[in-house]
Amino acid sequence: MKDATARVRFAPSPTGHLHVGGARTALFNWLFARHHGGAFILRIEDTDRSRSTDEAIASILDALEWLGLDWDEGPPTPGYRQTERLDLYRAHAERLLASGRAYHCDCAPELLKRQRESAQARGETFRYSGRCRDRGLTAGAVRLRIPDAGATVVNDLIHGPITFDHRQLDDWILVRTDGTPTYNFCVVVDDVTMRITHVIRGNDHLSNTPKQILCYEALGYAVPEFAHVPMILGADRSRLSKRHGATSVQVFRDAGIPPDAMVNYLARLGWSHGDREIFARAELVELFDVKNVGASGAVFDVTKLEWLSQHYLKSTDAARVAALLPPYLRAAGLRVPDDTAWLARVVVTLRERAKTLVELLAAGRFYFEPPAAYDPKAATAFLTAEGAGRLDRLLERLERQADFTPAALEHAYRGLAAELSLKLVDLAQLSRVALTGGTASPPIFDVVALLGRDETLARLRRARAAAGRAA
Ligand code: GLU
Repeated sequence: MKDATARVRFAPSPTGHLHVGGARTALFNWLFARHHGGAFILRIEDTDRSRSTDEAIASILDALEWLGLDWDEGPPTPGYRQTERLDLYRAHAERLLASGRAYHCDCAPELLKRQRESAQARGETFRYSGRCRDRGLTAGAVRLRIPDAGATVVNDLIHGPITFDHRQLDDWILVRTDGTPTYNFCVVVDDVTMRITHVIRGNDHLSNTPKQILCYEALGYAVPEFAHVPMILGADRSRLSKRHGATSVQVFRDAGIPPDAMVNYLARLGWSHGDREIFARAELVELFDVKNVGASGAVFDVTKLEWLSQHYLKSTDAARVAALLPPYLRAAGLRVPDDTAWLARVVVTLRERAKTLVELLAAGRFYFEPPAAYDPKAATAFLTAEGAGRLDRLLERLERQADFTPAALEHAYRGLAAELSLKLVDLAQLSRVALTGGTASPPIFDVVALLGRDETLARLRRARAAAGRAA
C-alpha cells in the first residue's frame, strides 16, 4: 500500500564528508519517500557547534546531489538547521515544564560526576537519582520525568518489537543548565514539528529511541514508526571505519564510480529483492520496502562495487556515460571536447576495458592529447629503420585517403599490407604505437577514425621522425 502522506528525513551531523553509511541511510529514506510519493526532508543536525562546519554541510549536500538524492524540503531554505530552531526547542521545554512532565534540576556537575563514577566502580550503569524531581525548582537544567515502572516497546520495522525496561532509563536532560538543548530533545522536537511519519536511521540510534518515545508521549504527540538500519561492516565484520579503507562517498566519486552504480550498490547493502543484484533507479523506487532490509550488518565489498560500476559503464547509453566525463577530464588535465557525440563514440571504444570512469580515461588518454612518450619496448620493436619505411608508405596512402570511416580505413590498410607483403597486424601495431604510444588500444580503425585525418597524419609524421632518428 502506498502512503502519500509519508514524510521521512535524513538528518546528518555535519562533522565531515558523507560516508557510505550515511549515504545509504539517505538513500533508504529517499527510496521510501519516492516509493510512496511522500516527502524527503533534509535536516542539518548542527547543535554540536564545536564539531559542525559549513564546509561539511556543503560537502554533504554536494554528495547527495551527486547521488541524485533530491530533497523536497531542506537547505538552502532557512529553518532546516537545528541552530536556526532554538526557539522551538525552548517552547517545547516550557510546555513540558508547565505540564509537570519535566522539571528543573540544580544538581552540581561534580555531584553527578561522583555518582557516575561510583556507579561505574560498582559495575552499574549510572541513573540519575531523581533528587530534584519534587523540589519545585524554577531554574537549572531541564529533565524529563520518566515513569518509574513499566517498559517502552520500540516496534521497529526491521527488528520487530524491542522492549526497554524503564529501570534501564533515567530522567534525561532536555536542556542543559546553560540553556542549550540536548541532541535527543532536538531530534524529537524536529521530528514532531516536521511531521515525520517514519524515522529511518542507523541502529546506533536504537538505544536513544525509548528515551525519545517517552518524550513524544510526554508532549502528547503520536510516535512515528521507526526502522533502524544495521551498520555497514568491514571485511573483518567489525563496524566499517577509515581503517578499512575509503569510506567517504566523494572518494568513490573521485575514483570514477558512476552515481547510478553507487546507488545500486548502496541499495543492495542491506536491502534485497530475491537474489537480484542489478536495479535501475526506477526499479529501486518501485520495489523498495523497508521491511526487506536485513536485520544483520552488511559487509562493504569494493570488488562488488567495481563490478557494478563496470556493468553500468558497459550497459548505460554511451551518451549518458560521456556526460559524466567532463569533471574527470578536467581532473586529468585534459580539455573537455565540444563535440559530445564524438565523446560518446570514444566511450563506446573504451568501456569494455574499464571498471571506472578514471580507468576509462586512463585507457583513452591518447584520444585527447598525443602520447607524451612512446612505450620504450614498443619503440624498440616498431620505430626502426624498417618502421620508418613503412610509415612513409602509410603516410603516402593516408594522405590520399579522404574517407576516414573505419570501414574505408580498413580497406586502405588491407590494400597497403598486400602491396607491401605484410600482415595487417604489422601495420596496425605500428599505427598503434604512433597514435597511442603503446601496443594495446581499442580497434585501430576506430582509433584512426576518431582521431581524424589531420591528427592521425600529424602523429604518424611524428613517429616517422622518431623512427628516422632511431635508424
Ligand atoms: N544526526 C544523527 C547522525 O548523523 C542522525 C539522527 C537521527 O537520524 O535521528 O547520526
